[in-house]
Amino acid sequence: MVIVMKANATEEQISGVEKFLSNLELGVHISTGSERTIIGVIGDKRILIDTPLEIMPGVDRLVPIMEPYKLVGKTFRPESTVINIQGVEVGGDSLVMMAGPCAVESEKQLIETAVFLKEQGVQILRGGAYKPRTSPYSFQGLGEEGLKLLARVREETGLLIVSEVVSTDSLEKALKYVDVLQVGARNMQNFDLLQHIGKSKMPVVLKRGLSSNIEEWLNAAEYILNEGNYQVILCERGIRTFETATRNTLDLSSVPLIKEISHLPIIVDPSHGTGKWNLVTPMARAAVAAGADGLIVEVHPNPQFALSDGNQSLNFESFSTLMDEIRKIAPILKRELSQ
Ligand code: PEP
Ligand code: MN
Repeated sequence: MVIVMKANATEEQISGVEKFLSNLELGVHISTGSERTIIGVIGDKRILIDTPLEIMPGVDRLVPIMEPYKLVGKTFRPESTVINIQGVEVGGDSLVMMAGPCAVESEKQLIETAVFLKEQGVQILRGGAYKPRTSPYSFQGLGEEGLKLLARVREETGLLIVSEVVSTDSLEKALKYVDVLQVGARNMQNFDLLQHIGKSKMPVVLKRGLSSNIEEWLNAAEYILNEGNYQVILCERGIRTFETATRNTLDLSSVPLIKEISHLPIIVDPSHGTGKWNLVTPMARAAVAAGADGLIVEVHPNPQFALSDGNQSLNFESFSTLMDEIRKIAPILKRELSQ
């Protein structure tokens, strides 16, 4: 349930409602909008039946929420959330570009890629240090060493860093080195991990699960918000379907759909979404046209020698073309590339 306060409700009236709810051992999430304050109620709402909540001073109305999620929904927060990551805005009118190799392989590979991406106007460098690979015999990533390389490259280039965490152990390590966490498709429903990330208050890219529907995805985000971390960026990365011509089916309809039901920003990963480098740029264009708040793209100096996801990685030349095209499309959609 959500309590919509009157536009002129005073601080005292808001805290009166808060006190009333906490006396009943219900949790609250307060959203202070430009127009009015909205209070989300957490816990067993049945306790509120026959209470005078609706007629308390400052209360406009009570809105029962039908969706299983609440904090991620538009009813809770009608305005779009804009996440500010050390000056880089994600959401609103901005278009954020995240790019980099699937996996951090070496200092040379990372610095070469980072310097190129910086020149191209990318703001956030991606690079996996903990790689959740399908086969235990595939390259598993450099672990903490990879995180250290990412942190060093940030020092040298000023790029912000996003990197995947796969467990509470890797989360603890990543918190020391990165600016944005990534939860991969395989861990979208690792609820323990999501709760720990919620407590960390670090911005997080939450990828859609391989076979997850939109409701499951939003519920996964709800786990993070419910722990007090509102800095969640959703990432559509394609889902499993019967189609085998592409690695995944990139469900771009999720972009406008999410925009209707949630206030969270959403970016698109056309690399994992297609699995084929030659499809990445066309789908990146389509993602921006569909209203995505940004892109996350795999880029490698020599995709044919990449230790993971070479097939879907762009080389520098192709990435430069992608950026040229996105720069042309962005203004038509009144989007500004984040600085
Ligand atoms: C990745 O970003 O390299 C990755 C493993 O992505 P996903 O979790 O979407 O498969
Ligand atoms: Mn990858």
